[in-house]
Amino acid sequence: MGERQDDCIFCKIAANEFGTEFVVETEHVVAFSDISPQAPVHVQVIPRRHIESIREMNQDDSALLGEMIAVANQVAVEKGIAETGFRLVTNAGADSGQEVMHLHVHVLGGSKLGPIA
Ligand code: AMP
Ligand code: ZN
Repeated sequence: MGERQDDCIFCKIAANEFGTEFVVETEHVVAFSDISPQAPVHVQVIPRRHIESIREMNQDDSALLGEMIAVANQVAVEKGIAETGFRLVTNAGADSGQEVMHLHVHVLGGSKLGPIA
């Protein structure tokens, strides 16, 4: 965990290899628009270092988790959905449908959202 994975698209985005515009960036976290938005606002919040999913995180990662939540809240303010409301989602493993194996928290909002599952 933590080493950059050469075949990981989100590691490449975090390293800014594609010149992606970050909605918010901090020391350990970046946020950027989803390529295939499922809501009017759909942003990904990711750690800069490679962590496969929330399953790899525990109490020792509380600072990073706190930073990710703070960034998600900043994204909501930047995107004007802090007041209207939003949803945070993170998928882990096969049953969740996780496709990108680099931890990411979806920030979804900008309209009334459907049921969770
Ligand atoms: P998940 O199913 O939770 O793994 O979600 C992966 C998310 O990453 C999906 O919402 C994709 O649209 C999004 N995604 C995949 N590739 C990119 C990319 N290059 N830039 C931005 N978002 C991406
Ligand atoms: Zn990665």
